[in-house]
Amino acid sequence: MPAPILRQLDVLRDTTLPWRLAGETIGVVPTMGALHDGHLSLVEAAKAACDRVIVTIFVNPMQFNNPEDLENYPRTEHDDARKLERFNIDALYVPDGPQMYPDGFSSKVTVTGLTDVLCGAHRPGHFDGVATVVAKLFLQTSASDAFFGEKDFQQLQIVRRMARDLDIPTIVHGCPTIREIDGLAMSSRNLLLSDRARVTAPRLHEEMETMTAAILDGAPFAPLQEAAVKRLELAGFTKVEYLEMRANDDLSLLDTPTRPARLLAAAWLAGVRLIDNIAVEA
Ligand code: AMP
Repeated sequence: MPAPILRQLDVLRDTTLPWRLAGETIGVVPTMGALHDGHLSLVEAAKAACDRVIVTIFVNPMQFNNPEDLENYPRTEHDDARKLERFNIDALYVPDGPQMYPDGFSSKVTVTGLTDVLCGAHRPGHFDGVATVVAKLFLQTSASDAFFGEKDFQQLQIVRRMARDLDIPTIVHGCPTIREIDGLAMSSRNLLLSDRARVTAPRLHEEMETMTAAILDGAPFAPLQEAAVKRLELAGFTKVEYLEMRANDDLSLLDTPTRPARLLAAAWLAGVRLIDNIAVEA
């Protein structure tokens, strides 16, 4: 069944009011659209866990640090709505820019520490944009639960910290990364890859798998990192922004997996920035 598409906050609030009064749980899946099976796995998780499910689509200008990236970001609302039909969600919330950031908007949510590293170090202001829009979406939808992908592991940890710090009573669920058959993590940005770059793109995940196996075998981290970066550059990646092992909980840098850890990477390929991460565990 096609879900009702809501574009106004007051309509969204009128829609959720009876659900809240009936004590129903409301699961929210925030997205920027261009939906793929990764997003749809979050919808499935929300459907399994909650009485009501709202998917949101908002290409959030506040989290783009590059105007060209914002302009090029794929927008496929019609197809997105069609892909959601089989899930029988309760509402698709698609606010426009002024609805989210009306004239005079002047607040932002900043999470410190966790945002200084990895993508935060390379995309100034990005996580302020994420934390602000996610806080707004949690409050606008009255989410009891929200579903995020481990694909954006740093984002997931920042959203968890933000909700905890601000006493927003939304339970944040992390869901596994969904991949293409060749291992490439699904991403809306993959649509921007040329055919040639698409063939090279899975190398990032391949190198990360190889590195993780070697780390678990006890190999020292730095030479593995250096060799993997070299191979990626030879394969055609123009810049590896980071390829690091960090602790799951506070994202502190590790060179041996003495605590639950992930290997995280960001790299540019033919003008597209790809990110990925995997657990470092046997
Ligand atoms: P985005 O539309 O890229 O902002 O992503 C919306 C949500 O989908 C975020 O919670 C992402 O982490 C999640 N997501 C994106 N790609 C994947 C994937 N390949 N597997 C699982 N979740 C994903």
